Amino acid sequence: MTINRTILTVAIASLLGVGIAAQRGRGGAPPAPTAPTPPGPPHVEQLKREAAADIETMRVMTQQMVDQVFSYGELGFQELETSRYLTDILQKNGFRIERAYAGIPTAWVATWGSGKPVIAIGSDIDCIPQASQKPGVAYHDPIIEGAPGHGEGHNSGVPLNITAALAVKKIMERERLPGTLKIWPGVAEELVGTKAYFIRAGLFRDVDVSLFAHVANNLGASWGGGFGTGLVSVEYAFKGESAHAASQPWRGRSALDAVELMDVAWNFRREHLRLQHRSHSVIVNGGDQPNVVPQNAGVWYYFRETDYAHIKELREIGDTIAKAAAMMTNTEVSSRLLGSAWPQHMNKTLAETMYANIQTIGLPTWDDADQTLAKGLQKELKQPQSGLATRIDPLRGGIDPEQNMGGPSDDIGDVSWNLPTVTLRYPANIPGTPGHNWANAIAMATPIAHKGVTAGAKVQAMTIIDMLMRPELVQQAWDYFRNVQTKDQKYEPFITASDQPAVWMNEKTLQQYRPDMKKYYYDPTKYKTYLDQLGIKYPTVR
Ligand SMILES: [Zn+2]
Repeated sequence: MTINRTILTVAIASLLGVGIAAQRGRGGAPPAPTAPTPPGPPHVEQLKREAAADIETMRVMTQQMVDQVFSYGELGFQELETSRYLTDILQKNGFRIERAYAGIPTAWVATWGSGKPVIAIGSDIDCIPQASQKPGVAYHDPIIEGAPGHGEGHNSGVPLNITAALAVKKIMERERLPGTLKIWPGVAEELVGTKAYFIRAGLFRDVDVSLFAHVANNLGASWGGGFGTGLVSVEYAFKGESAHAASQPWRGRSALDAVELMDVAWNFRREHLRLQHRSHSVIVNGGDQPNVVPQNAGVWYYFRETDYAHIKELREIGDTIAKAAAMMTNTEVSSRLLGSAWPQHMNKTLAETMYANIQTIGLPTWDDADQTLAKGLQKELKQPQSGLATRIDPLRGGIDPEQNMGGPSDDIGDVSWNLPTVTLRYPANIPGTPGHNWANAIAMATPIAHKGVTAGAKVQAMTIIDMLMRPELVQQAWDYFRNVQTKDQKYEPFITASDQPAVWMNEKTLQQYRPDMKKYYYDPTKYKTYLDQLGIKYPTVR
């Protein structure tokens, strides 16, 4: 039914002489049948099997990386220990490291090999405020009350990519395969804070394909647009004048009044915004104390929509409301961009190739302990007690953008509009979690995450080998990128030439918590696993 309706829409649109893609600004991928890429020549398939078998023998190393990064629990732009640790491993394995990439202290690019194709392999590394949580315990039990923690599961993606890359590197050396591997971290993804800057600095300029990995509760890959949103993250700072709030309040001009009026106005306006939109804000500065009229106040907004044009429009509405609030309160307002993300559009060829490898590898074998933890948490969260995924997600593609009712964002969207990109979703977490929450951290340093990352690493390694040895796939990926995805819609960054990454963010929070957190950093020389180090019986359920 969706297909028929869309064919009709396309027909009407073409009669009117306008492409629906151009109207929607999200790339013209009409719904079309989709199937996994057929297997390559026998010697390619043989090398892929070999890489997967090798990754099986790397389980301990993979587990240690996942646990180590989990224990660091660093917020966006403060991933100092995480980046030092991961780049040390890569350097020891012969990668050249470029540090402080794009002027971002915790960003880096690790390169190995030479010549074409160049394959970028990325995943995020930052965590979530106040999501500290003991792994393997199926209820809220923080390691350190109030501290940040991996309540999104970003501790697992770069360990997955390193595992995959090391297996592929071994094969490339032996087979003398040309090609370059570039591993990079999604710094401050939760702030959608860096990928647009990586693009501006040229990270992807000579790259042929981009393979990304993101934690999920199943194995999967998708292509096309039509899911989630993009966003701009904008902070509005109001400036007024202080006065004694009781003796001479008429001499004060309250910046906090402006913030509150802006929020009220936005929440009235919300009713008349498209259903696809999402917006949310936090007051980052509400003044000092009640008897001093606040001379400074600030509010931070995420404006989300499903395409570039609508995201820009939301920001313009926000700017107008901010100016109006300043006028009403006789204050001044300035704004700055703290982050941005394009809506994602994943590559058809890459998704179909990755999906064939997903079908080959399949889901990990969960044991009773894994399922007990999963069901225990689901019960705790009052969710269906379905346990862990036992059937892989279908290959999704060509979803009608009109069916997109909004959702989350990831600044991998920007990368996806610069070159053929696909995200591997891998099963390292438990279905039914709320996201950005302590509950999402529970599985992330347990056998669930370890097995899920090993399965994901196999898929990633096999897809890298496909891209290295089957140049026709790289060609097809670019055909789709050039002739379908970007035919009517070209990338225009939300950041301007003068915008700078918000590298100061979260610094104070880490200063506050890091001394305590250090006591809980994982020490693999003393303990087999992080669960062992914390003395947690796996699984612990109510
Ligand atoms: Zn994420």
